[in-house]
Amino acid sequence: MYSKQISRRRFVRNAALAAAATGLRSRTLAMPGILTGKQKKVGVALVGLGYYSTDLLAPALQETKTAYLAGIVTGTPAKEKIWMEKYGIPRENVYNYENFDEMSTNPDIGIVYVVLPNSMHKEYTIRAARAGKHVICEKPMALNAQECREMITACEEYGVTLSIGYRMQFEPHTQEVMRLGQERVFGQVLHISCGAGFRNGGSGHWKLRRDMGGGAMMDMGVYPLQAARYVTGEEPVIVNARSCVTRPEIFTDVEEAMMFDLQFPSGCTASLSTGFHAEFNFLKVFAEEGWFGLDPFSSYRGIKGKTSRGPLEFPQINQQAAQMDEVAECILSGKPMRVPGEEGLRDMIVVDRIYSCAEKVNC
Ligand code: NAD
Repeated sequence: MYSKQISRRRFVRNAALAAAATGLRSRTLAMPGILTGKQKKVGVALVGLGYYSTDLLAPALQETKTAYLAGIVTGTPAKEKIWMEKYGIPRENVYNYENFDEMSTNPDIGIVYVVLPNSMHKEYTIRAARAGKHVICEKPMALNAQECREMITACEEYGVTLSIGYRMQFEPHTQEVMRLGQERVFGQVLHISCGAGFRNGGSGHWKLRRDMGGGAMMDMGVYPLQAARYVTGEEPVIVNARSCVTRPEIFTDVEEAMMFDLQFPSGCTASLSTGFHAEFNFLKVFAEEGWFGLDPFSSYRGIKGKTSRGPLEFPQINQQAAQMDEVAECILSGKPMRVPGEEGLRDMIVVDRIYSCAEKVNC
């Protein structure tokens, strides 16, 4: 039985690789990295072992049922041993940025999770797809909408799925505000007020570099943008934006804060903000027959909700575990992704407009 499973895995992997090598479209062929047994599991390789991988994703992968931590990609040799020992990762599933592409022959790894600086998302998503691996890419999806389109095309060509790390869409309070807004439970949504920021003291980190995809808008700004889009279920038709810097000695290359206003086809307006200057996190939605909101709305835990008709009470969950389990289940079942690459693209289309608008206002 075991050898049969292995040979099937090899067959599927080789078929995916052959298709990848010839550039064939083969959505059904790419099924490597599946651990069979009582419960099927999909192996995940984390690429980039910085803050988010270390503090959130790797711990979450200890709670997942369908996804498991199978491998790592790191440019820091000192991290290899630490991660291998801590998570029981075998040596052959440890890669660096030079031998990354050799992952194509590794049957343990089904999903490559790109957790790198934003300027590296496109390259590593496309390389992972070329290696025949399904991809989860962190938010924001890339530097701009054009890069997102190239990533989507590459994943289609190599027959792998692409999902974006928008963990909130897996969170129950968030799913409820999406329903309340999109199903007009409080009548037509008229106005949304939302913001997400934190006090970033500045340390020469890539998030302060424009060429690496830094800036408050790219980092936290996508959360209020997402919220306005998922509460209305619409794409904005009018975009206005203004960026600002309150500490010019730190923010020499990127915006410290961004205030942006959207208007949707239904007429709903949204007043949104983000920043590295202050700690804030809230979502409030005003509709014809009342209001609803979350405060905080995008933190890792402790999401709290209220409406004009009473509290919103749902279980607190591990958002990253829920996200990765659902992605793995979609891969196994062939169901569409909740947050496909196209969702990341839709945000970046608006982000491109926000930046171009903010430049005009500030000149
Ligand atoms: P980080 O700086 O802590 O980690 C980045 C990792 O990339 C580090 O391990 C670093 O060594 C590695 N790296 C490889 N090449 C590099 C290079 N040329 N320059 C700099 N670093 C390089 O960043 P992070 O906070 O973990 O963010 C990583 C990604 O995850 C970003 O896209 C970010 O937006 C996203 N993120 C998402 C969430 C979420 O809630 N979904 C939260 C935090 C971060």
